[in-house]
Parts: sequence; structure tokens; C-alpha cells
Amino acid sequence: MEILGEVEESVRELREYFKSGSTRSVKWRKTQITALVELLHDHEDAIFKALNQDLGKHPVESYRDEVGVVAKSANNSLNCVEKWMAPKQSHVPLLFFPAKGELLPEPLGVVLIFSSWNFPISLALDPLIGAISAGNVVVLKPSEQAPECSSFLANTIPQYLDSKAIKVIEGGVDVCEQLLLQKWDKIFFTGSPKVASIVMSAAAKNLTPVTLELGGKCPAILDSLPNPSDFRLAVRRIVGGKWGPCSGQACIGIDYVLVEDKFKNVLVDLLKRIIKKFYGEDPKESKIIARIVNKHHFERLCNLLKEPLVQASIVHGGSVDEEKLFIEPTILLDPPLDAQIMMEEIFGPLLPVITMNRIQETIEFINSRPKPLAIYAFTKDETLKRKILSETSSGSVVFNDTMVQFLCDALPFGGVGQSGIGRYHGKFSFDTFSHEKAVMHRNLCLEIEPRYPPWNKFKMQF
Ligand code: NAD
Repeated sequence: MEILGEVEESVRELREYFKSGSTRSVKWRKTQITALVELLHDHEDAIFKALNQDLGKHPVESYRDEVGVVAKSANNSLNCVEKWMAPKQSHVPLLFFPAKGELLPEPLGVVLIFSSWNFPISLALDPLIGAISAGNVVVLKPSEQAPECSSFLANTIPQYLDSKAIKVIEGGVDVCEQLLLQKWDKIFFTGSPKVASIVMSAAAKNLTPVTLELGGKCPAILDSLPNPSDFRLAVRRIVGGKWGPCSGQACIGIDYVLVEDKFKNVLVDLLKRIIKKFYGEDPKESKIIARIVNKHHFERLCNLLKEPLVQASIVHGGSVDEEKLFIEPTILLDPPLDAQIMMEEIFGPLLPVITMNRIQETIEFINSRPKPLAIYAFTKDETLKRKILSETSSGSVVFNDTMVQFLCDALPFGGVGQSGIGRYHGKFSFDTFSHEKAVMHRNLCLEIEPRYPPWNKFKMQF
């Protein structure tokens, strides 16, 4: 009851403030984004510490995937927001002469942002930049599963940003439920498909638009690549894309690799060598590999490995340490396709390698599962590339690399089907938090009589 009162009061205050129009000016938007850049700059060490406490992330990883990502988005927004806000002329057919058409972006109003724990800073602040750029007022609900980052955001955001327009509300499921009882003008959710359907049902009651940034199983296709150095580079990028960001706890991380049977041994051998090179002989002692976020996810991942046929398929790693919440980078060769590890999103440092007779079969394999957030394909074969593009559906496709699409503001980021609804990043974030209003300017001269009754034959011909 107490939470509900607090939530209702926050939303009421935000709505009042939005009505005042203060958040619509370019000046307000730029001031807020500049303040966010200052926040990142002033508290970089505190952010690194919070990310290390919540997830064991190394500062280099924290800069690359969190602080750096947000700073890049903020600077892009500062450079472009005026251009994004400007009305765009639209061609109006002669039939309407004299008339001018334009598309005018307007803020949606009071928006709710739910973020996830795996990139608890960037997945909270990146959408926030979009919402502010578009002139909205915001409630940000960071993930309770990254508590240090959540309290960092709750403590520092009010010191830098306009607290009449941007409120951070911390909490778990009970708070989420109270938030979902409110009327919002937009809900932006990053998380699992399961919770997304709860969010979407709540939003439907008020016809609130949603953006759902979800996950799924992202495959990486490894084609033959006859040149050994190309093959090595591809496998290096696979290791980087699997274990690099948050130890595999990444929505666009590689879930499994598809390869032709004849290349499986060389692939597994290279994977092992590169893992050793990156994380040393004993990755548990390495300070550069993130740990599993909490006991719940640790146990979930251990359970994925428990099935006897899955255990039998482990060709590298497999050791776990409950106290340190550590799971070794683990490779599985052809685990049963009906095992849980091949049915649900892994979201952790386990990598199944699935072999096929012919690389073309990968397309059928991918299409027999829900649409992924990303498909990665290492190939120089233009025909295969075209087949992947035209015969599969996914949020994004990246050829010959992994994860880099997340950093490119020129491309929209989002899923399709089970992997999400809507998109953001760069100008796409601004659009996600705006309504583009259709405006037609007419004047009061040149009247066409046939548009009015009484109707007659002459008017029909007109
Ligand atoms: P989650 O769905 O458990 O939680 C996400 C958010 O929803 C959190 O803020 C949480 O507090 C809230 N929540 C939890 N239970 C709720 C309930 N019953 N009602 C309302 N809200 C509730 O997801 P997670 O564990 O934080 O993240 C993992 C999932 O997120 C994975 O599926 C992953 O692929 C996906 N993800 C997607 C992206 C993306 O950008 N597409 C990024 C990161 C993670």
C-alpha cells in the first residue's frame, strides 16, 4: 500500500511537470544529457566498483560495454537532437493545393523504463537518453538483481538530472507490479519474454505502446573459410562474442555455433586454445571474466549441464564454484537437441557446438526455432549470405563478427517475434520515444464547391 502511494505520487508529479512543457525545449534536453555525461565522468570509478560488486566485471569491460556505450550515445544525441526535433517537410499531392505537409515529432509523455541486470548501467541509461532526447518525463526502474548499480543510479541521478522529470524507483517484483498498475504513455522494457508478456498485458489495459527488448538463442554459423587465418580470426571473434561481454550473460551473445561436421575438431581445438590465451590456464583465478550474477542463475546454468547426455557432450571446461558464482568457459559438442540447454536461452558461459552435414542445413535449423535477436555468420560465400538474409528472420544479422551491431548507432537495435518488439539506439531511440504528428497546413482561399452537398450528377463526375 505504501509503495503504491509512492508510485502514484511520483507518476502524478511527473505528469504535472510534463504538462508544464518544461521538458520540450532543446535547452532542457541538452542540459540533461550534458549532466548525464558529467555524471559518468565524475563517477566512473564508482560505476566500475558497482559493476565489479554486482557482476565481477573488469574495468575495461565496464568501460567498453557500459560507460563508453552511454557516453557515445549521449554525445551522439547532443550533436543530433536539434536535427531530430525539427519538423520534416512532406510532399503533398496537387489534389490538396494549396497545402503544405509536415511531420512533427512530439514527446509521448510519462514513460516507464525497466532495465535488466546484465548491463545494468548501459541498459538503464541508453534508453533514458532516448526518452530525454525526445522530451519525455521518466520513471527508471533498474534491475534489483544488480543491487549496487541500482542504488548507484538511484543516488546519483537526482544529483545531476532534473528530479521533477526523471525519477529512479528501485525495487523487485512488488514494485514492478505497482508500476504496471499506473497509466503510462510508453513502457520500454528490457528483460525476458516471460516478464515481457506480463508487461504487455498490463500495458494493453491503457493501450500503452511498448518497446520490448528481449532475448533468445542467437546462433553463430561458421562456414568453411579455407584460409586458415580467416578461420582463426572467426573463432577468435566467436570466443570474444561468447565469453567477452559479461561471461555470456548477454542478450546478443552467441548461444550456440553451427558448423559442418568435418570442421568440428579444428573448431573445438581452436576454441580451447583461444580461451586459454584470453583467460589463462585457470580461468577461475582470472580477474577478467565476469561471474554469474546470483545463485538463482548459477543453479539454473548448473542444471542445464546436469543431464547425463549433456554432461557426456562436454569437451572443455564444465567446472563450477558455487561460492565464487563461477562457471568455467564450457564447450559442448552435439548435446541432445531436445535437452534443456538447446531449448532455452543459455545466458551464461556454456557454448554448444552443433554439427551439420552441409552448411545450408543451418538455415532450416534456425528456422525451426523462435526468431533470434541476432544471427552471426562467418562466411565469404555471397550465396550463403543472401540465403541467410532472405530465408531467416532475426533482429539483426552480422557477417564475420559478433556483438558489434550493439555499438553502431546508425543501425536500429531490437528483436522480432519472440526476441522483441520495437527498436532503439541513436535516432531510432528518439523515434521510439516520440510520436511523429502529421500536420497539414491549408489556408482559407480557393474553395472547391463539389466537396459539399447537396450531391448531384455533376459532383459525382468531379
Ligand atoms: P527479467 O524479465 O527477469 O527482468 C527484467 C525487468 O523486469 C527487471 O527490471 C525486473 O525487476 C522486472 N520484473 C521481474 N519480474 C517482474 C514481474 N513479475 N512483473 C513485472 N516486472 C518484473 O529479465 P532479466 O533476468 O533482468 O534479464 C534477462 C533477460 O533479458 C534475458 O532473456 C535477456 O536475453 C534479456 N535481455 C535483453 C536485452 C536486449 O537489449 N534485447 C538486453 C539484456 C537482457
